[in-house]
Amino acid sequence: VGEFSLIDKYFAARGRARPDVVLGIGDDAALLRCPPGQLLVVSIDTLVSGVHFPANTAAADVGYKALAVNLSDLAAMGAEPAWATLALTLPGEDEAWIAAFCDGFFELAESTGVALIGGDTTRGPLTVTIQVHGWVPPQQALLRSGARPGDLVYVSGTIGDAGLGLAHAQGRCNLDPGVASDCVRRLARPQPRLELGHALRGVASAAIDVSDGLSADLGHILRRSGVGALLELDSLPWSAAFRANAACAEGLVVQQVDGVPAAAAFSLCAGDDYELCVAVNPRNQDLLQDIAQRTGCPLTCIGRIEAQAGLRVRLPGGEVVPFLPRGYVHF
Ligand SMILES: [Mg+2]
Repeated sequence: VGEFSLIDKYFAARGRARPDVVLGIGDDAALLRCPPGQLLVVSIDTLVSGVHFPANTAAADVGYKALAVNLSDLAAMGAEPAWATLALTLPGEDEAWIAAFCDGFFELAESTGVALIGGDTTRGPLTVTIQVHGWVPPQQALLRSGARPGDLVYVSGTIGDAGLGLAHAQGRCNLDPGVASDCVRRLARPQPRLELGHALRGVASAAIDVSDGLSADLGHILRRSGVGALLELDSLPWSAAFRANAACAEGLVVQQVDGVPAAAAFSLCAGDDYELCVAVNPRNQDLLQDIAQRTGCPLTCIGRIEAQAGLRVRLPGGEVVPFLPRGYVHF
């Protein structure tokens, strides 16, 4: 099958029809209707096999995750998702792989109301590039630059699970079977926090999604906002699965980091959680608990923004030490 029949067969007829798509897949370009008075929010992400996901990842999980990590960026902006374009580079014409990829992709596209409006397929090493488009009212987008001294730092859900899942998938640690499937699922099927991001409009002063690791991503907020932060290591939200395998996490940290206990260092540096990390004025604390209840998404206060630049952590004994933000670096 050639490129055209691939797109027709697997992509063109699937997914949700949206009234704002005047013309979707099939012409030289898509025609789209932008809602009046809203800002267009655009983000793009590339996933390379063997770099961003293990080469033996199931095709359906690749399709799901490639869209999920893009939608996570829209969530971090407080945007409502609308459309996506897909560029797929494939080593061969494996139709079973493409069909499974589509199943994963469209499962998430349908549950989030996203329409696929265009695509391109080429031959080469397995690479998935997705661009997503969404909306946000003017002045309401969540930026990295809005954190102020005195703001509280919150993170959604739990952190470190996907990092354990990756280590397990790569054979670098051996998790209990029940726990392993939870962690590998966190890695393979991240849940973009779209509802949470939307609810945080006008409530959070800054936001980012945790893709490269909590310390690295919080570090982006700190630099863009010109502030620092103090994190309470005792407050890091760990899942039951992570707690049960803290020893595995400790074994994965090659060197003691700045006097920080190894499991804590691991969860501060492991990537792929796709939770939201936000700064919030303390006067919005009650609002935040309402939002956590309404969205069913736990939010944990893990520290405070400070005027002094840099990231610091309070050790369980009470001592405060500097912590160099670090995470997964692609280049
Ligand atoms: Mg991001």
